[in-house]
Amino acid sequence: MSQSPHDINVLREQIATYGKSLFDRGLTMGSSGNISQRLDDGGWLMTPTNACLGRLDPARISRLDAQGILIDGDAPTKEHFLHRAMYDERPQSGAIVHLHSTHSVAVSCLPDVNPCECIPPLTAYYVMRVGKLPLVPYYMPGDPALGDAVRGLAGKHCAVLLVNHGPVVAGKTLEAAVYATEELEETAKLFLLLQGKNPRGMTPEQVAELEAKFGRP
Ligand SMILES: [Zn+2]
Repeated sequence: MSQSPHDINVLREQIATYGKSLFDRGLTMGSSGNISQRLDDGGWLMTPTNACLGRLDPARISRLDAQGILIDGDAPTKEHFLHRAMYDERPQSGAIVHLHSTHSVAVSCLPDVNPCECIPPLTAYYVMRVGKLPLVPYYMPGDPALGDAVRGLAGKHCAVLLVNHGPVVAGKTLEAAVYATEELEETAKLFLLLQGKNPRGMTPEQVAELEAKFGRP
């Protein structure tokens, strides 16, 4: 059954609240970053193009139908295809956050990161919320080929890191997607702090134990 207009308004408010929280803490700047929520009718709510996540008007958040056609609100983010690529491959995911958050972007610019796992498993919560983070090659902003590259990885990964750009993170709920994005950004910060220090990460056995108990995110 589809959500009622009231339920959809609650979701609009929730996107604005999380957007402001991310913006106020410096996780996104200017009009960068976007948030989306899958709806029960197969459509989506998405933050509008050129909108600042810190000052979203819930009523103007874009609502798209299952074909991606705008039903109401402002025109959606130009990066809508990144969200669509993740949703198509992840039926279990209900919400997506994409930011240009500083530490994650910094990691995406490092020359020698492992493209299959850009950030090593430094903490248990990173393993549980983000898991193995693959790197997506560089494409010009708006290039649909970027969507295809994300599509190829999204089935096996709840989060991907776009080279010289930033993370795209899916979660079962918007809250889960926001928490995973925050975990990723903080772990990126740790990873940068530990450069050249030969840190003790989680062992493969410790990672396997977490995945056996909690599953892969
Ligand atoms: Zn972006």
